[in-house]
Amino acid sequence: MRVLQVASECFPLVKTGGLADVVGALPAALAGAGVAVTTLLPGYPAVMQALGEATATHALPGFFGGEARLLRCHAAQLDLVVLDAPHLFARPGNPYLAPGGREWEDNGTRFAALAAAAAMVARGALGEAFDAVHAHDWQAGLTGAYLRFGAGPHVPLVFTIHNLAFQGQFPAWLFPLLGLPAEAFSLAGLEYHGDVGLLKAGLWFADRITTVSPTYATEIRTAEGGMGLDGLLRGRGGDVSGILNGIDELEWNPATDNHLAACFSADDTAPRAANKAALQRRFGLEERADAPLFGFVGRLAWQKGVDLILEALPWLLGSGAQLVVLGTGDAQLQERCLGAAAANRGRIGTVIGFDEGLARLIYGGADSVLVPSRFEPCGLAQLCALRYGAPPLVARVGGLADTVIDANEAAVAAGTATGVQFAPVNVAMLGAAIQRMVALYRDAPAWARLRDNAMRADVSWHRSAARYAALFHGIAGA
Ligand code: ADP
Repeated sequence: MRVLQVASECFPLVKTGGLADVVGALPAALAGAGVAVTTLLPGYPAVMQALGEATATHALPGFFGGEARLLRCHAAQLDLVVLDAPHLFARPGNPYLAPGGREWEDNGTRFAALAAAAAMVARGALGEAFDAVHAHDWQAGLTGAYLRFGAGPHVPLVFTIHNLAFQGQFPAWLFPLLGLPAEAFSLAGLEYHGDVGLLKAGLWFADRITTVSPTYATEIRTAEGGMGLDGLLRGRGGDVSGILNGIDELEWNPATDNHLAACFSADDTAPRAANKAALQRRFGLEERADAPLFGFVGRLAWQKGVDLILEALPWLLGSGAQLVVLGTGDAQLQERCLGAAAANRGRIGTVIGFDEGLARLIYGGADSVLVPSRFEPCGLAQLCALRYGAPPLVARVGGLADTVIDANEAAVAAGTATGVQFAPVNVAMLGAAIQRMVALYRDAPAWARLRDNAMRADVSWHRSAARYAALFHGIAGA
């Protein structure tokens, strides 16, 4: 069974967040479940540089305003099709943002081109057709529209929502540039509040819709969590499901990770102390083995609850803990995180930037990783933290609720806890959760048990890969 997945990001070639990790990990995860995945990506400079020899090419003259080609190649152990369209994608830096931080004005056309290419490749433009297509997020949202309105046999489509907050909504002037029939611009199609909605179209035309955790699948069908699309999602009934993300256990392995100061495993956590010391030095903190060290890695955004961490600092500092923050994003939050570090030298450290190696040192050196998200489709930070022995402290929302077992009395007695959850998501509850985590930290046997459980939790793709495979087999055979 052959599946074409289409996405704008894929680790290790291009990454701004968890989408890239998932798209990069699925091919290997699904190979074991009898599904061969080919990945279609835009030809960003970083992707073009990584490519080997093309095994097939297909010219696309006059494609969305310029000359383009489809290239079939291999890179980073992935079977790839790349849309080489320099007029759309040969732009350095962040895939979505122009210099200065504003979105590229032609993002609608750029990702329509990606979706149009996906429909062509799925139908066999480079040889054999595919059995199913797996489209990820708004950037691949029009794939279903091009399959529906283009010529050729139907190829079944699974659409996965990684974050409903990013909807790819563009002014109606985009529509005539898309090459779709007028009837496509309707409520039963691309039209979304008078605009063109790429994510909305993805949900409308998909045969099946998945999102990245069972709890988020429930949340997005409520008015509170549906971000305007809950009605459509409820209308899709049983076509919507949640399949939990995993992480690639070979890629994320503290026993072999050369970004760490010292490698370690669940069977031997002693070397982990060297990572904590390295982290304290790197962030200019007091090098104290006994101080509980919290870490945060992620986008500095309202969604991630970074402001809540800053407001909960009296609880954190009051319990003798330290904090390291690594992230980029909202300019005001960046300033506030830097300000907190400046005001609490030796106790709080902030690095603004995207740094894969430093992120791994935080997972492998912090005592606990904070994930106080207001909403979280799945979240990968807490999975990395579990695997690297930093019991996560998480808000009880979305995938965080599904992947961390709270250290309540019953779970501690049963020896199953892997972290701490809190709800509702506010400063007082976060403060109390921090105190609860610190109390566990100071109880050496309880802490050893919690960390051991965390490291042995199943954060792999095994179960979820089987669920995706069943979904693909189901729709391809239907
Ligand atoms: P998102 O909503 O951003 O996709 P996830 O938790 O699903 O959040 O995934 C985030 C991924 O990006 C994780 O692998 C995390 O380690 C990584 N990441 C986020 N911010 C940074 C950063 N500043 N430096 C390095 N890695 C980061």
